[in-house]
Amino acid sequence: MIAGGGRCLEAVRRINSRGGCAPHLSLRFDSHLFSIDTSRAPKASVQPDAYLITHAHSDHYGKSAMLSPRSIASVQTARALEIRYERKYQGSTFEVGESIDVDGVRVNTHPTGHTIGSTSFSWQTESGERVLVTGDVKDYSHLPKCDFLVMEANYGDPYDPSCIFEDDLAAFSEALETNACFGAYAFGKAQRAVALMRAMGYKDEIGMDEKSLTLTQELMGRAAGPLTVVDASVMNVVTPWNLCQVKSRHKYFLTGRNDTSYPTIRLSDHLDFRGLMRMIEHVMPEEVLVYHPEGVRANLLAHHLQECGLETTSLGLIESFVR
Ligand SMILES: [Zn+2]
Repeated sequence: MIAGGGRCLEAVRRINSRGGCAPHLSLRFDSHLFSIDTSRAPKASVQPDAYLITHAHSDHYGKSAMLSPRSIASVQTARALEIRYERKYQGSTFEVGESIDVDGVRVNTHPTGHTIGSTSFSWQTESGERVLVTGDVKDYSHLPKCDFLVMEANYGDPYDPSCIFEDDLAAFSEALETNACFGAYAFGKAQRAVALMRAMGYKDEIGMDEKSLTLTQELMGRAAGPLTVVDASVMNVVTPWNLCQVKSRHKYFLTGRNDTSYPTIRLSDHLDFRGLMRMIEHVMPEEVLVYHPEGVRANLLAHHLQECGLETTSLGLIESFVR
């Protein structure tokens, strides 16, 4: 029970057919059950009132939830899921920033700058408790104040130096002076790269491989500028495993990883540890649940926040289950 002060909000996890936990969690409050970035429950299982899908990265499980009429996602997230998984999105959609009715609850939606269409959800319980579910975040400036925060911790380990970083925009800008080829995941990083290239004044065609091209054209529209299929005579943005197929003397993997065979340029879709702490100061929660990714990083951030005096738990410590 995430309780105290008369609260009536409970985080629960679904036990799957193998006896493990289904991804992420559901929030039970008043007479509602909202599932957060989880997979679709089998027919015999407890059914949530809604599947809130924060964005279309595969580790947020829209791939199966998109097949439920109870799924809720932004227009861009729904479209990205359709392109990525070649299936029809069955749920309802909204424009990011809109307030929507979800099972009789007024839910506000907020951009997080993580991917095109990425969304945080916020609402109030009947007793007035303000709930905020972040999803993955690059920009927290649009997030509202809350009492109960469900947050990510992709770079939340306070003791890991690799969780402290800045995007290397200078190196990216320098690479634009050459005929560079950038390795970027097709959804998320590829659109960030194209947006940055345009913001830095690059106006010529950008070559992309098929999936990246479709996603970028559909999700960015005119803002993407002129795009074409991969072409060695122009600047290219391709999925990392296609870097080897493009003729260019200047290849860079856009990532925070350091285990790649190509030179890297640090360009992250996430807040670093310091950014996550600033986000918490910005939304001023009374209580925190660190929900993604499951495991050590979330546990260590939860421990750190507890030491800072904030009531905090993490996904792995949830003790309420449904089948
Ligand atoms: Zn993500």
